[in-house]
Amino acid sequence: SKGNGVSNHSGRVRVAVRVRPRNAEDLLPDSDFVECVELQPELKRLKLRKNNWSTESYRFDEVFTETASQKRVYEAVAKPVVESVLNGYNGTVMAYGQTGTGKTYTLGRLGKDDTSERGIMYRALEDILSSISPAFDSVEISYLQLYMESIQDLLAPEKVNIPINDDPKTGEVSLPGASVVKIQDLDHFLQLLQIGETNRHAANTKLNTESSRSHAILMVYVRRPVHENAKDGFTSEEKVSSSGSNVIPMVRKSKLLIVDLAGSERIDKSGSEGHMLEEAKFINLSLTSLGKCINALAENSPHIPCRESKLTRLLRDSFGGTSTCAALLTSEYSSTVISIQYALMIM
Ligand code: ADP
Ligand code: MG
Repeated sequence: SKGNGVSNHSGRVRVAVRVRPRNAEDLLPDSDFVECVELQPELKRLKLRKNNWSTESYRFDEVFTETASQKRVYEAVAKPVVESVLNGYNGTVMAYGQTGTGKTYTLGRLGKDDTSERGIMYRALEDILSSISPAFDSVEISYLQLYMESIQDLLAPEKVNIPINDDPKTGEVSLPGASVVKIQDLDHFLQLLQIGETNRHAANTKLNTESSRSHAILMVYVRRPVHENAKDGFTSEEKVSSSGSNVIPMVRKSKLLIVDLAGSERIDKSGSEGHMLEEAKFINLSLTSLGKCINALAENSPHIPCRESKLTRLLRDSFGGTSTCAALLTSEYSSTVISIQYALMIM
């Protein structure tokens, strides 16, 4: 969001907002529920009512009110990114906003009892797995947590402090040592998500912190051989190995990142001390550097300042360039003006 309080994003990053339904707590007669957020979906605007009842208006690419279904949010926000990943480009879908506003609901909900509640991670894998041909293509995932500039493997939680490797030649970002698991089917994927979720809770209990203080990152690697000569039933890789030549296999690799960002609530630095203050510094560092990158992208700047935090270093090859990127701000109607202004400032 810029100067006059109206966000103005180019096609390089699509930014949407979703406001969750009021919950039982919001509706208690003695709740301090003050609605400062008003949506104008047809104008794609969010209006923020400030204490003195003046308003500020922000424009988004998409505005979802509390009645928007998981399916609709997936189709409008994530599906275009998933489609470009299936076409061989990298892509990122991320959710940001205060704790309790629906980031994990939107991205990570498994919807075991009610399939209509399934979130973006599930729906993305469902689309990817149904679009590929298992005989030729492969889908692999890594699932990580980034907490205080340290990366932990959520599929093998004993792996901590995983380094980020930037290949200067290919520009590819990789995580040496992180588990990469080949996905057999949707049930297998659900099991892995469940394991990751359990490990995330266990790790945070051990560290005595809230999972909302860390970023969770699902990486989906899609490998599809280029099919020109695939009619004979061999992938290019098999051809290479059987002929013994050292021709580079024609495999198209792409990567989808789905990022559940740490809560964007501003922790009052003066009021926090010790560990809380350290956490707050790291969250501010990563969200601020993410905001700088998104703004640089939106301004079509040739230089995207990705080096300032591990979060943006991880994202570097998955936004900008030919990558597709979607960011979803989650909010509640009763968000305080300060906290939503802080979240709006990020992008
Ligand atoms: P966050 O990850 O941002 O901290 P959660 O996703 O955990 O927030 O959501 C907080 C609570 O609100 C959860 O109980 C969740 O089920 C509920 N919730 C969030 N968004 C929605 C929604 N769009 N519809 C129904 N319930 C929601
Ligand atoms: Mg969450």
